[in-house]
Amino acid sequence: MDFAFHNSFHDSMEGFYAPAEAAKPSAPKLLIFNHKLAKELGLDTADLPDEQLARLFSGEEMPDGAEPLAFAYAGHQFGHFSPQLGDGRALLLGEIVAPDGARFDIQLKGSGPTAFSRNGDGKAAIGPVLREFLISEAMAAMGVPTTRALAAVATGDRVQRERAHPGAVLTRVASSHIRVGTFQFFAAHFGADHVTQLSDYSIRRHFPDLAGADNPHLALLDRVTGLQCELVSHWLGAGFIHGVMNTDNVAISGETIDYGPCAFMDRFSANAVFSSIDANGRYAFGRQPQIMHWNMARFAEALLPAIHRVSPDDVEAAKAVVDAIPARFRAIWHARVGMKLGLVNGAGDDSELIDTLFDELEKHEVDYISFFRALAMLLRGDGTMLEGLLPAPDAMAPWIAEWWGRIVQDGAGPIELAAAMDGVNPLYIPRNHQVEAALAAAEEGDLAAWLRLLEVVRNPFGERPEWSEYALPAPADSAPYTTFCGT
Ligand code: AMP
Ligand code: MG
Repeated sequence: MDFAFHNSFHDSMEGFYAPAEAAKPSAPKLLIFNHKLAKELGLDTADLPDEQLARLFSGEEMPDGAEPLAFAYAGHQFGHFSPQLGDGRALLLGEIVAPDGARFDIQLKGSGPTAFSRNGDGKAAIGPVLREFLISEAMAAMGVPTTRALAAVATGDRVQRERAHPGAVLTRVASSHIRVGTFQFFAAHFGADHVTQLSDYSIRRHFPDLAGADNPHLALLDRVTGLQCELVSHWLGAGFIHGVMNTDNVAISGETIDYGPCAFMDRFSANAVFSSIDANGRYAFGRQPQIMHWNMARFAEALLPAIHRVSPDDVEAAKAVVDAIPARFRAIWHARVGMKLGLVNGAGDDSELIDTLFDELEKHEVDYISFFRALAMLLRGDGTMLEGLLPAPDAMAPWIAEWWGRIVQDGAGPIELAAAMDGVNPLYIPRNHQVEAALAAAEEGDLAAWLRLLEVVRNPFGERPEWSEYALPAPADSAPYTTFCGT
């Protein structure tokens, strides 16, 4: 099998990775293959039997041209610097160039130990693999920048966690795996030459338009910062909590990466945390913009040797880029909320309306995802959905009146506006209780509920009567939801 790999990182970045080999799975069995994505990528897999797909995407059979490697990186984990992390349970098969010219990494996750595994086994359990598959596909369907899932293969081996689980390998597709932590690793251990080389490679690969900037490394900082503002605004709009926003989990491409203990909240709470390892709420829903700012400050630090070498004066400019993040984020975020609320004509300054919205949602414990759909229903003249979300029919009456006034002021037709709102406000997200039930069944060998949920979240916007249960939050009497790390 030949995927026509073009391995630019392998060929031009020696010293930035360690060669790696996949462990042989004892009995690989295909759980799912994303044929649609494979086609978009131009992978020649359409006619392959499931048995061969299972071998290729579990590490059993290496495609021709693969030069498997593990990336080196460092990272701040929960605020503390770990000088050496690296791919401990992942291996890059190679890079492909899609028919539209975009370049992608094809990476196996859970394919055995590498030079960076430390005490880890390099393996992944089936639950977290199917979880990442499902949630990353849901994010892509909602239009959130993200890595993609190409395949999931059961290995036939057991993986020991708090108990033994069936093992699996996820194939992840990313526009690259260069992280803030990759820069931190080379800044901490090697210095300006290496940081410059990594920055130059990143620019060639992701942002070739920056190559001619006066100081390309400063331009890189500015671009990545803008992409992170966009990304976190998407997360907030979707009610998504990443859960481990460590700098090793921040891709400079601006894609969501490393789905671990992530979750979507049901009722709105700025303090929502689901991860069992985030006891202090560092990565709570509403803190994500601040943490992104902090992470970008770490990125700036790592880039400084390269920025300074081009022009010492630009160190001040780098500081200014970082200092501007809160205002930059707020503008991007407010534009997104404006779209969610149907405030399309930008007639007024909606800051206050937006800020008070979140206070109101929190106070009345409103289901976040449903709320925006209920506003669109209100525009269609049907207030029953909104009423069903509120503790009392008039609970948000003053805010609704103000929002209504803004809609009228904009002068857009309510029916068209409602349709536009439904096009950006998902109805079907991976609800935590649905995800857990689907994964529990999958662990016992029954994929039916997981496959159905996947189909639902891949079509998040259009309402379908037969999917009504998927639009609902967890029953009020269900236990608080907790997620656990690890793939
Ligand atoms: P993550 O929680 O995915 O951000 O991972 C943090 C670091 O731990 C990365 O360097 C991973 O490669 C490593 N790691 C996590 N789980 C394992 C495992 N089972 N075996 C080896 N390394 C691991
Ligand atoms: Mg990670």
